[in-house]
Amino acid sequence: MLSSVLSREDCAKCGFCCAFRRQSLWETPLFPPDTVEKLEARGYGFLWEKNKERYGRMDLSDRYLTNDPGEEAPCYFLDRERGCTLAEEDKPFDCKIWPLRIMEKEDGALVIALTPTCPKMGKTPSEELKRLVEEGLGEKIYRYARRHPFVIKDYKEGFPILMSRPAPDRESK
Ligand code: SF4
Ligand code: SF4
Repeated sequence: MLSSVLSREDCAKCGFCCAFRRQSLWETPLFPPDTVEKLEARGYGFLWEKNKERYGRMDLSDRYLTNDPGEEAPCYFLDRERGCTLAEEDKPFDCKIWPLRIMEKEDGALVIALTPTCPKMGKTPSEELKRLVEEGLGEKIYRYARRHPFVIKDYKEGFPILMSRPAPDRESK
């Protein structure tokens, strides 16, 4: 979804968002039930959680080798040479839109924000990224979040906002 602003080659070289420190486990991608069941049948272990609907989260807890808080555990599906090995239809929506996030503010507003840690996208949304969101990607994200509200995270201060919808507006859509 972001291929016009983020190339596969850039991501294969980087891999930053596909490995997680213990304190960043909240950022691990979340999978819808049908995908979890498919991947469980292939032997991958998931933790089932529920927030309005059931969803799955990878259980990376036994992938840490030390007690170093800086250690990163790789996603099940990361190949250090090739990048993500999941088929497009199985790739979590979280990964398809990262470093964008859909987040809920304390007043209930639902915002599309940039995670400021992607080295390629930087801390400030580019004009190209803003345009992409305004010209359709933002609407796609809101639509997916309406069907799968588990992808909505709590808003974090410092994440630049590209689009916002007040809570009542959101309810009426
Ligand atoms: S952090 Fe950014 S550049 Fe690195 S793999 Fe993730 S999306 Fe790609
Ligand atoms: S599913 Fe793919 S893109 Fe998402 S974190 Fe894992 S390796 Fe990275």
